[in-house]
Order: sequence, then C-alpha cells, then structure tokens
Amino acid sequence: TVSSLENTTHMALSLDKVHHTFAANQVVKGVSLDIAPGEVVCLLGPSGCGKTTLLRIAAGLEILQQGSVSLEGQAIAAPGQRHLPPEKRNVGLAFQDSALFPHLSVLENVTFGLKQMPARQRRERAVELLAQLGMADYIDTYPHMLSGGQQQRVALARALAPTPKLMLLDEPFSSLDARLRDRIRDDTLHVLKKLGSATLLVTHDPEEAMFMADRIALMRDGRIIQTGTPRELYCTPVDPFVVTFFGEVNELSGTVNNGRVQTPVGEIDASWLPEDSKARIMIRPEALRLQERDLPADAHRHSHVVMAKLLGRSSLIHLCAHGADGQEAHLHARVPGVFLPQEGQPIDIDLDHSQVFVFQDEA
Ligand code: ATP
Repeated sequence: TVSSLENTTHMALSLDKVHHTFAANQVVKGVSLDIAPGEVVCLLGPSGCGKTTLLRIAAGLEILQQGSVSLEGQAIAAPGQRHLPPEKRNVGLAFQDSALFPHLSVLENVTFGLKQMPARQRRERAVELLAQLGMADYIDTYPHMLSGGQQQRVALARALAPTPKLMLLDEPFSSLDARLRDRIRDDTLHVLKKLGSATLLVTHDPEEAMFMADRIALMRDGRIIQTGTPRELYCTPVDPFVVTFFGEVNELSGTVNNGRVQTPVGEIDASWLPEDSKARIMIRPEALRLQERDLPADAHRHSHVVMAKLLGRSSLIHLCAHGADGQEAHLHARVPGVFLPQEGQPIDIDLDHSQVFVFQDEA
C-alpha cells in the first residue's frame, strides 16, 4: 500500500516551508527541501542569501520559527514544540570555523564522538579517515600546530567518524588553498559516498557545487530559485539569475518577430514568447563557435577579432559581431586550447544553441 511504501523510504532530511527572521530581517522565505538517504545536496547562492541560517536550523543550532524539520521521517522541530537538541540528532556538523578541542591531539579529536566503540576499533576508524583526508602524518599533533586547512580536514574527519545519517557542512573547504582544495573535495566526496551519509553542503562556489552535488538547490534572497542536478541547472536554467550564477554570459536583446529574434550572431528561436515582446538573450562564451575566414581587406563590416588572450586551458576572444542588417555587438567567446587569431581577423560565428538561453525581458 501507499502508506507502507512511505514508511520504508524516509528522507534523510526534510525541510518544509521554513521561514526565518532576524529582528525585522526576513532571511529565509518559505524554503522546502528534501534530501534522500545517501544523497549529496549543495545549497548554493550568493553571500547573505540565507544558506547558513537554513543549515543551522536543520542542525538545531537555530530555533525553528516557522515550518517543519524532519530527520528520517521524524519531525524533530516544529514551532512551539520541544526541539530535539543538536547533540541528539545523529547529525555530523562541520563549519567554516569549526573549533577543534585544543587540549586533544588530532587522533583524540576524531575519536571523541566514538565513545560507544571499543578503543581499538575507534583508533582504526579515526586513523583510516584521517588517512583518507591526507592527515595520516599528523595523528599525534595538537590543533595549534596545524594550518587552517589542516584543522578543517580534522574537523571533517571528526564529523564523519560516527558515520552520521546526515552530514551538514558549511563551506568546509574554504580555508584550503586552491591546489589542495580539489584533492580534499575529491577525497571528501569519496568518503561521503562510501559511508552513504546524506549531506547538505553550503557553498557559494558554483564549481564546488557542481563537483560535489547529486543535486543543487540554488538560493537567492531567502528563496530556492531552482533545484536539480548540476546538468539541469547549467543546461536548463529557469531564469537569468541561474544562468549568470554559473559564469559570465553575453547578453543581447531584441524583439520577437515571427517567433524569432534577429541578433548580430543570427536568428534565435523565441517561438514560446509573445509576438512583439522584448527578449533577453543570454549566450555562454563557449556557445560561440569561431572560424577564421579569408576576406578582402575592405571587409571591415564582417565580424572580427578585437583581442585574443590565452588563459591556459582555453583562449578568450573578444569579438565584434556584425549582423546581416547592420546590428553590432561586442561578445566574449571561450575556445578550448590555443586559439590566437590576429586583431582584426574576420571571423565566422556559429552558435551552439544548447548554450543560448532566451527569456522574456521583464524590464
Ligand atoms: P554567507 O555565504 O556570507 O555566509 P549565507 O547565505 O550563509 O551567507 P546567512 O549567514 O544565512 O547567509 O545570513 C543571511 C542574512 O541573515 C544576512 O543578511 C545576515 O546578516 C543575517 N544574519 C545571519 N545571522 C544573523 C544573526 N544571528 N542575527 C542577525 N542577523 C543575522
């Protein structure tokens, strides 16, 4: 029956219509979010949009004001009810500035939450996790002798050690330098998946979210704007904010005529928008396919290169695009590898329409 099915597949975490206000400042405005067992969900969004507040509500560090929070199908917080305190929630927490116990060694910090385990097993488990996070050589070290990034890794190991059903991580890689960060992200994801812990990870970094997440919930100003796989958010963004959050875009505008918009890079389909409405066209730099073209020197009204820069793995090309009807636009293209045409080089521009997004211009 339906009810027995519901009983067997509990969400690791369910937030339902959560609102939160600090003084007169409404920072969470009706957020609902489910995390399935073993699923890694990234809460992504600009600074101040309410991510940390939401995580703290899930952890029980912030008293719920409105809505409900359930862990594995059990309501643990509802307004006006007694709340399950954080330490009873079987939840692993690691925050940006998680403090380690200063008087305990790295090993003792990680074994701290494993009181129920036999001592030998406790040690084995802690050593294994520390090794997986690249901290095997620091087992007997004390926190004050570690760098910020090393402390962060110990805090992660400590949170993961009891194998909680749910991990709540707030910017857990922020103190790591760029080179180390990639590795520790990779190691952490590996550990999370191996332990099967459902995870809610807060980050403002879209690349981090895309790497870590099974699903991303993108927040703005206290609301979730879109939830989906990294691919869904990147390839089928629901609004311009989602497009711009994942990187630079070229913006063009135009009027819908016979279901199409004329632009300096050709006609673009906008058949789902009302005739004569204004369209906002967003073109990712990698959507521009460039081909150098042999043209006579006087062909200055053809699209051409303004500047080309090698960035390493890709080249950035500033273009001046000329449309059939004399329209002109300045665009940025990103091309894989080394592509460095001369300034003024005539260029043919082709579009990868899967990376072109058209919205009705509300302005
Ligand atoms: P960041 O990435 O910068 O940490 P965030 O998305 O995590 O941002 P929150 O930390 O949840 O955002 O903060 C949301 C808003 O709530 C901010 O405007 C912040 O100033 C405010 N705020 C957070 N905590 C408190 C508090 N204890 N008292 C008053 N205002 C707060």
